[in-house]
Amino acid sequence: MRERVGVIGLGIMGKPMARNLLKAGVPVTVWNRTRAKAEELGKEGAAVAATPKALAERSDIVITMVTNSPDVEHVLFGADGALHGARTDQLFIDMSTISPVVTRSIAERCAAHGVHTLDAPVSGGEIGAIEARLSIMVGGDAAEVERGMPLFQAMGKTIVHVGPHGAGQVVKLANQIAVAINNLGVSEALVFAAAHSIDLERTRQVIAAGAGSSWAMQNYAPKILAGDFGPGFMVDLQQKDLRLVLEAGFERHLGLPGTALAHELYNTLQRDGGGREGNLALIKAIEQLAGVDARQKS
Ligand code: NAP
Repeated sequence: MRERVGVIGLGIMGKPMARNLLKAGVPVTVWNRTRAKAEELGKEGAAVAATPKALAERSDIVITMVTNSPDVEHVLFGADGALHGARTDQLFIDMSTISPVVTRSIAERCAAHGVHTLDAPVSGGEIGAIEARLSIMVGGDAAEVERGMPLFQAMGKTIVHVGPHGAGQVVKLANQIAVAINNLGVSEALVFAAAHSIDLERTRQVIAAGAGSSWAMQNYAPKILAGDFGPGFMVDLQQKDLRLVLEAGFERHLGLPGTALAHELYNTLQRDGGGREGNLALIKAIEQLAGVDARQKS
């Protein structure tokens, strides 16, 4: 029999992910703090629960896709949290990006109630979520990874079991280091070309086909040139992730100069009210330093 799935958190990522589960024929119950987003999926065939607890009571597997560590703890352990509606052998999968330390403590707390957990954060952005092409990095026990696999396959393309509880979040944070620094590379490259009055679309095309290419060059650069800074992945969330990286790095006294630089530059965007723009807006900080605008002139 198909396992029934509850999805908590229907933001930019959670909504299309839940939609892909529905499309795959999975029986889905949803809960969202702002109820209107849940009702939208209700019209598409999901059941809408009144609380995370009620959602857990009618699910075999519970997926969380909320913002940060305290938010996951709140929807699991707070008043009317999912753990209050849980049964032995239920599986909780957290797909949000949160602290690896908090992830391990959530695993212990759930295990004390006989509830299994996986951390399964994702990469690939809103477009990856919509097209079910996410990369999913999974931490936890192999038997639970196997149990979650049909769901991961309905939402993603590359699913890798990277280690025990917390390892998924460590790999996701490593991914965020690469995302931020690649983004910085794209920003500097485009501003440099703009400062020399070179056509930016041609610049982008040729770099994207060569050794300077990256996911950011292929996906973000066209949007930057078009002046489309909507999220996608918000600056505020990118900063949340870079803070998680720097905190985890600090615990081990790691030098992470690239991450720290990107974090400082993003601070200036947040100061200027850009926290809800897409993370590709990093170029605005470089433009300000260079005194050059890198939009494609039509
Ligand atoms: P989002 O659009 O801001 O959605 C956040 C969701 O979490 C909303 O459903 C929000 O409810 C809910 N939420 C937040 N705090 C809550 C709380 N205390 N109690 C209950 N619900 C709460 O963010 P998103 O882009 O979907 O990101 C979700 C997670 O995926 C984050 O951890 C993010 O870092 C990660 N992620 C995002 C991307 C991306 O490209 N966007 C890519 C990979 C990973 P409301 O609707 O009521 O606000």
